[in-house]
Formats: sequence, structure tokens, C-alpha cells
Amino acid sequence: MNIENISSVLQAQREFFFTHKTKDLEFRLEQLKTLRKAILKYEDRLYEAFWKDLRKSKFEVYETEIGLVLEETGRHIRNLHHWAKPRKVGTNQLLHFWSKSRIYQEPYGLVLIMAPWNYPFQLLINPLIGALSAGNCVALKPSELTPTIAGVMEEMIVEFFNPRYISFFNGEVELSKALLEEKWDQIFFTGSPAVGRIVMESAARNLSPVVLELGGKSPCIVDSDANLKVAANRIAWGKFLNAGQTCIAPDYLFVHTSVKNEFLRLMSNKITQYFGTNPRESKDLTRIVSEIKTQRLAGFLGQGRIIAGGEVDILDRFVSPTILDNVKPGDPIMQEEIFGPILPVMEFSNISEVFTFINSHSKPLALYYFSEDSSRQAEVLGKTSSGGACINDVITHVANPNMPFGGVGNSGMGKYHGRYSFETFSHQRSVISKSTRMDVPVRYPPYRGKLRILKMLLK
Ligand code: NAD
Repeated sequence: MNIENISSVLQAQREFFFTHKTKDLEFRLEQLKTLRKAILKYEDRLYEAFWKDLRKSKFEVYETEIGLVLEETGRHIRNLHHWAKPRKVGTNQLLHFWSKSRIYQEPYGLVLIMAPWNYPFQLLINPLIGALSAGNCVALKPSELTPTIAGVMEEMIVEFFNPRYISFFNGEVELSKALLEEKWDQIFFTGSPAVGRIVMESAARNLSPVVLELGGKSPCIVDSDANLKVAANRIAWGKFLNAGQTCIAPDYLFVHTSVKNEFLRLMSNKITQYFGTNPRESKDLTRIVSEIKTQRLAGFLGQGRIIAGGEVDILDRFVSPTILDNVKPGDPIMQEEIFGPILPVMEFSNISEVFTFINSHSKPLALYYFSEDSSRQAEVLGKTSSGGACINDVITHVANPNMPFGGVGNSGMGKYHGRYSFETFSHQRSVISKSTRMDVPVRYPPYRGKLRILKMLLK
């Protein structure tokens, strides 16, 4: 699909939606099962595409892309009947005599899903699962920066699905812009806060509901009483996973002065343990998505003091896992989301300094705190705000579909995963059903003498 045929494709999708076929639960289940089959068929092609675009290992592709999506598909297939049931709620029978109240989950209609390049498969297909399970028709727009992966996903969708049900728009930013000119019943966008604003502006023209899954600088705090070994294992994993190109990667580190040297020594050792003495040769270190973005990351290396890594090869799109000590809050690396394998470090002696810093910036997508003390943990959660958080870990909150995933403030709005996806892609329609056997006349004019009764009912 391209810019020229957007209108005709969307027109056909709207017509298909109004056949009401997608509202049938058995139809939805069948489509989710088809999606599962399609993913399994294309699994090997996806591994190859991921290697080509991002040089990403099979293990990480399964862990952070295919496995997550298969798990989500299974969860929706198992629970759809239960989630889709109209929910009975109580009714004040004095006010609403002889009536029943139910909340129906209704599909929005035609939904646009736009994805970024850093987890190009799961960030397109995971929301798709929610949208289908809720009964919508969907238009998919993958990122243009991972073209091989986008091409494989396009083939997969085209082979298995009717374009009147799921359309696939594979192309440059101009195509994204043209799609945003259209009227959507809902837009689900994952990407940068800057483009998020553009999406929201275009949605405002039609008052289309939007979900914005954005990014930002997620802080990671290691306190004086933290289990330093475990913290180093986990932070080095989460920061360098996908070469740091993760929306919920620990962006920067605040470490307590009393444990800083020891902790940074452990972190440096972890880098060697995970990626060897020459990380460029490691098969487990993903590459940066483009030369331009590698160049941008190289520009950060003049700040602070490099205590691990620091090597860059622009043509190979390689940046070694790097720790930058002595970074100052005013340094350029602290002004924007890093989105690469560089960890700037700042120290603190009193946790209130950390609160002041975090709360004077935009609300992050995630926050990570390492400490063994439950009252300190509660204080950190109580005095900060973020989309999600982990205590004594990083990133893993995203992988529990029993919890909603999403941002707050500058890091986004709306939520998804598991049941939350189903609900996000559904309009909750409140319906009251009344019997006609009795018609209590209090509400009807003339009102003379009735206010006293109303006051008894409504207080
Ligand atoms: P991006 O905002 O540049 O691009 C995302 C999508 O927007 C792409 O499909 C692209 O085609 C489209 N787009 C780009 N420029 C546009 C424009 N001017 N008008 C209309 N559409 C446009 O984001 P990215 O660089 O692909 O991804 C990185 C960002 O995404 C980071 O900020 C990261 O934190 C965030 N992110 C968030 C999550 C999350 O779940 N919250 C997940 C992954 C990435």
C-alpha cells in the first residue's frame, strides 16, 4: 500500500468493519490463531532480517520480540471470551427502578498503529493483537529505519490477512504524514515525544482517541545499601540489551558516593563478562540502527570520563558498551534520551538530591531503584513519578502482562499489554436496560412538589 491508494484502502476497511464481522468473537479468535501461525511460519525470516538491520542475536530476538508476541497472542486467545463479556454493575434501584446496568466492550472501528524501529516487530504486532482481539480493523505503519524487518512483516501480513481487515503501509516518513491526514477511530503511536506531539495534533482535528507510548530519560538509582553484585548484573544487562536502544533502558545512573567506586568496578567487569574484551566481536551485541545515529552517540563521548568502552566505528554502526563517570547534570548527554549503550554516571550523598533532580525534569517512562531497605524503596516510589518502575531490577516490569505498560506526562498516555490492551482498543459503552412495566413519574414535569422526593433519592 502506498500514498496514492490510502483513501481507497481505508474506504474498503471501513466498509468491511460495517459488515460487523470483526465483532464476532469466533472470527477474532480465528484471526489471532492465524496470526500465531503466520509468526511461526516467518520466524526464521525474522531472525535473518533482524541480523541484517540490527545485527541482533537470535536469543534477543526471541526474548524481546517473537517470544513476547507469541505469549501475548496466547493470552488473548485464552482470555478473550472472558474479557469481552459485558460486565454487570450495580444499579441504584431507587433512582433507576427495575433496570440493569452493563458495560459493553465495543471496538473503535479503524485503528492506525505506528511503530518505531528499536523493537520493530513487537511494537507493531503487540498492539495489533490487542486491536484485533477488541474487534477492530487495523492499518499498520512500521518504521522506515528497519526496512528488511518491515519487508518481512509486510509479506507476512499480506500472505495471511485480507487487506480489508489489516492493511500494511510500508514506506518513508511522508507515508506516515499522509496517514495522519486521515480520519481514524483510534491512533496507537509508539515513538519519540516530538513525533507524539505531531500525532496528537493530527488526532485532535478529528477528536480521535490516541495512545502515545513515548520515551524519555529513565533514571536508575543505586543506593548505599544495595546488593551491588546483583545490581551490576541487572543494570549491565538492561542498559546494553539491544545496544541500549530500549525505551525503558536505564538512561543514566545515580550512585551513592560511598559505593560508587566499587559499583563501577563491578559494572566494568560485567561488560567484559557479557561481551568479552573486544565487544566488537561479540555476537550478542546489537548494532546501532544507522550511521547517523551512531555519529550522534559518538558525539556524547567527549563528556565526563570514560571508564569502560568508548570505542566507535561509524561504518560498522558499532558503539562499545560505555560507562561515563563524572557527568554533570548540565552536560548535553543529560539533556536528551541517549538511546545507545552509553551510561552516564552521577553520584549523590543524600537521596533528596536525586528527588530534586528527577522531579525537575519530565516524568520518565521508567524508574529503577536498588536498595535492600523497604522503607527507602517506599520513599523513592512515593516521592517520584514514572510510567512504571522496578525495585532491584530494570526493564522486567514490561514483561508482566498482568500489569499495564505505558508512560505518564512526557513519556506518554494510555496503556497496554494483556487485558489492558483489550481494554485500550475497546470503547467501554455503558448501557442501562429498563423494564417498561413501571414508569416512576418523579422525573417528569411539572416538578411542583417533587424536589423533596428528589432530595431523598440524591444525597
Ligand atoms: P520516531 O518518533 O522518530 O518514529 C516513530 C514513527 O513515527 C515511525 O513510524 C515514523 O515513520 C513516524 N514518524 C517519524 N517522523 C514523523 C513525522 N514528522 N510525522 C509523522 N510521522 C513521523 O521514533 P523512533 O526514532 O523510531 O523511536 C525512538 C523513540 O521511540 C524513542 O524516544 C523511544 O523512547 C520511543 N519508544 C517508546 C516505546 C514505548 O513503548 N513507550 C517503545 C519504543 C520506543
